[in-house]
Amino acid sequence: MIFPSFYMIKRLVAVFLVLPAMTVVAAPKSSEYKKPQPQPLILASTFPMYQITRIVAQNRPVSVGLMLPAELGCPHDYALTPQDMMKLSKAKALVINGLGMESFMGPVLKNANPGMMVIDSSKGITNLLTYDDDDHDHGGGHGHVKANPHLFVSPRMVSSLANTIAAGLTRVDPAGAAVYKENARAYGIRMAALDQRYRELGKKLVHKQIMTQHGIFDYLARDMGLVIAGTLEAHAGKEPSASEMLQLINTIRTKKIRAIFTEPQYSPKIAMALSRETGVRVANLDPGATGPMTADLGYYETLMDKNMKILETHLGAMTRD
Ligand SMILES: [Zn+2]
Repeated sequence: MIFPSFYMIKRLVAVFLVLPAMTVVAAPKSSEYKKPQPQPLILASTFPMYQITRIVAQNRPVSVGLMLPAELGCPHDYALTPQDMMKLSKAKALVINGLGMESFMGPVLKNANPGMMVIDSSKGITNLLTYDDDDHDHGGGHGHVKANPHLFVSPRMVSSLANTIAAGLTRVDPAGAAVYKENARAYGIRMAALDQRYRELGKKLVHKQIMTQHGIFDYLARDMGLVIAGTLEAHAGKEPSASEMLQLINTIRTKKIRAIFTEPQYSPKIAMALSRETGVRVANLDPGATGPMTADLGYYETLMDKNMKILETHLGAMTRD
């Protein structure tokens, strides 16, 4: 008699323990309380796109997020992560650089979130530059030419990108049309002033031929009337071969290149080696491909002002020799 009643008590206790737990689990289902509606997420693929989108989206109830790490830089060799896919699945729209910068997404771009709008900031820009981006072309074979995607380093291009992003955001949030348009217009004026300062600097500089780390400064150089006589990495992130190094040394000597401009996102190792060999100067220019997540909205203009001083220091004066 003792044992059955003990078991009964045990079972009763078990039932009481289980029941409240089941009640708790079931509660949210029956009550279905409504959470406050979150702001639509506008995701930007890269740091430059993130900054321009934040500027254009000012004073609108949208949330702007960055998909790739802010410190990553150009995602030429990037591979998507599950975290990226998670972010994509929550976005209402994705602002991309375009021109192949997001080629790492491939078909995923369409499949990750079928309802998501893709805003290609480079859409409609016609006066594009091309560059050779084939790292399998070291033996003198057939490199393939493609559009240079680094529009964001040219202030006048940034103005176009901002307008295109404003039009895209208007499709996502039609009530904000006037705000987006005005934000892009106001930023366009700032970019036109920055562009003007760069053009004036370009006219003043004595040495017009430069060498860069990868094809990131090409649009800015065109704006300024500078000539990119060579790039250290035909394919971003790939070191030049021995024969390419000899070619670069030859170019530096024959074209009297004054400076190699490296970038914070890549190692200056190759540039330093060329400097030791030829005496060419090495200076770091920041194209704004990377930056802190906490960057203020004037970040691009601040760093572009710094770049002007660096260019002037290294290309402006002939007094050193
Ligand atoms: Zn790049």
